[in-house]
Amino acid sequence: MTNHPITQSPNHPISNLQSLLSHLRSAQRVVALTGAGVSAESGIPTFRDAQTGLWAKYDPTQLATPEAFARNPRLVWDWYEWRRALRRDTQPNAGHYALAALAKHVPHLVVITQNIDGLHQLAGSTDVIELHGNLQRNKCSRENIVIDRAAARPTADGLLACPHCGAYLRPDVVWFGEALPRDALERAFAESTQCDVFFAIGTSGVVEPAASLPRYAKRAGAFLVEINPEETPLSTIADVVLRRKSGEVLPEIVRRLESRD
Ligand code: NAD
Repeated sequence: MTNHPITQSPNHPISNLQSLLSHLRSAQRVVALTGAGVSAESGIPTFRDAQTGLWAKYDPTQLATPEAFARNPRLVWDWYEWRRALRRDTQPNAGHYALAALAKHVPHLVVITQNIDGLHQLAGSTDVIELHGNLQRNKCSRENIVIDRAAARPTADGLLACPHCGAYLRPDVVWFGEALPRDALERAFAESTQCDVFFAIGTSGVVEPAASLPRYAKRAGAFLVEINPEETPLSTIADVVLRRKSGEVLPEIVRRLESRD
């Protein structure tokens, strides 16, 4: 594999798209790393967007921590219940569907997501590595094992407890300061260093270790594509930058691949 430095010109989005399409047509392995931005058009706020209503006064980075849960499990649990309700009211958007469709046009495509909303799977993506867990699942806060809600024990203070040890249940997501699931992370690094084309979509590129994946991919020879309406630390190393919403540009990429445009 070789690197192909492309002039990044926001004035020439068509030539950028064409070079991406030609790389995609010859690619054997493709990785799409997604962040909160890919779900923004479904109505799920990114962490950088202001939270709404009751939660507007809380900083999410102060709620998504083991310390916050130890201090006030009710507050953290209620925040996740709010996020679950938000998620139940949303559907995958055109960007999620386009990524699922893209898998039919390349020999191997894996989605590596930092999102916990499960929208890629709902849209039909079958190979999804969840780096930060899944909002819908719960686990025992002591034993770290997944527990079905139906099997949980209600506690006197209105929360749920593990049926085995009695510790509080918590969402099966990775909080700030916690390690990522090892199998998911190992596979994510392996896929990233073996791929021909790597997309970084809707991620601010600052939350580690996910933020390192595009750099590893690029160093190993991948063609790096960023899709984000805003500049990020990745923008300067990307071969192609598409400063557009993922729900608009991903369907266009698939359409043009299909029409051999
Ligand atoms: P982030 O909130 O730090 O950054 C989101 C990025 O998406 C920004 O760079 C923004 O410019 C971009 N963006 C916004 N709208 C977009 C669009 N329509 N198309 C393309 N890009 C768009 O998100 P992050 O990098 O994923 O890191 C934050 C952490 O928060 C992650 O760990 C993630 O798990 C978590 N999170 C997840 C969800 C979710 O599951 N949907 C929601 C909020 C936060």
